[in-house]
Amino acid sequence: MSDFNSFGFSSQLKAQIRLKGYETPTPIQSQSIPHLLKGRDLLGIAQTGSGKTAAFSLPILQRILDSKITIESNCVRCLILAPTRELASQIEGNIKFYGEKMNFTSTTIFGGVSKSKQLEALSEGVDILVATPGRLLDLIEDGRVDFSQLDTFVLDEADTMLDMGFLKDVKTIISKLPKSKHTLLFSATMPQAIGELAESLLDDPLKISVAPEATTVETIKQEVYFIDKKDKMYLLLNILAKPEVKSVLIFCKTKFGANRVVEQLDISMIKSAAIHSSKSQNARDKALDSFRAGEIKVLVASDIAARGIDVDHVTHVINYNLPEDPSNYIHRIGRTARAGRNGHAITLCVIGELSLLKNVETKIGISIPVILDQPFHKEFSQDALNEFKKSKPAKKIKKNNSHSRRRKR
Ligand code: AMP
Repeated sequence: MSDFNSFGFSSQLKAQIRLKGYETPTPIQSQSIPHLLKGRDLLGIAQTGSGKTAAFSLPILQRILDSKITIESNCVRCLILAPTRELASQIEGNIKFYGEKMNFTSTTIFGGVSKSKQLEALSEGVDILVATPGRLLDLIEDGRVDFSQLDTFVLDEADTMLDMGFLKDVKTIISKLPKSKHTLLFSATMPQAIGELAESLLDDPLKISVAPEATTVETIKQEVYFIDKKDKMYLLLNILAKPEVKSVLIFCKTKFGANRVVEQLDISMIKSAAIHSSKSQNARDKALDSFRAGEIKVLVASDIAARGIDVDHVTHVINYNLPEDPSNYIHRIGRTARAGRNGHAITLCVIGELSLLKNVETKIGISIPVILDQPFHKEFSQDALNEFKKSKPAKKIKKNNSHSRRRKR
């Protein structure tokens, strides 16, 4: 097994890795870092929470330390594309931390905030630029970004880019980059369009897959609660009152729904905040910071806004509504059980959502246990259950670490 001393990182980086509390490299880190340090292209099929950010950031920083290039004005040495502003900020935050003792520059570029500061940072030239596709493309089209010194390109969460409709923008950006560069592509799943992009973009890449496609993180305890719509808030309050429920991310289908949950929690004196695309960047940052700092126990999110959320201590993810797209179930519950911790994912399901639940179970290939031992359990009609049971995955969740009574299915 490798350890962080075996990679040949500089003392500055090693000190920051220690300060961050990392003791052992995660599988994606031990498998990729030695190759990335040598400049090999990489295709990483990596789940959220796998430690992929450090896997690419640390070698990039080491390579910057080892090189003597001076970055000219408006030039970028390394471009990292991420699908959401939160993820972009988070990546840059990590990079700043790992590189704190180094002399290098980094900045972020994303929409929803004024361009002037971003342009100012760019005008001096930056070593590492972390950007979302839309705003970056704007600035490229305005002639404000120069890629002639670019030597490294990272495309993170490529499948999310595809889901969010950014693939065309991503391809346009790629067409502006120099042909010869060190390229890394990360994706949790490998839909055909991403496979094709990888094929055209990467040169003899090292392929690493740290978890099979579309499986959910093993350490997450998953449960479903059948419920009547009118009882949902009562059940939520009941769950939130349990002592083990310390830090909770709640997912709602709509922004309106997320705001309503926050209002209702407020009435019950539970501190929470909503994070979704209609909120200003400031409000989103503030909500995330208070959640991270433990000042609020509950963050209520829509799918898109939550993509980049990386908060170590989320004990519970609650699906207040089932996602329309079953892939989002995987993204959602991956927000708990980060980097080897245990986590708990609870899905509230009303009768009209049984078909969505079936889609989720088909996607993850397992039946999620239904908890009967809860005050608002709703017995669904036999017809609805029969329909639900048809063509369900046979495999049951292996780990049964709840004391609750479960439905035999
Ligand atoms: P990522 O998959 O990059 O979003 O990382 C998920 C979480 O794992 C982050 O909170 C990281 O700080 C943490 N992490 C990354 N590498 C390690 C490591 N080697 N040991 C412990 N935690 C880590």
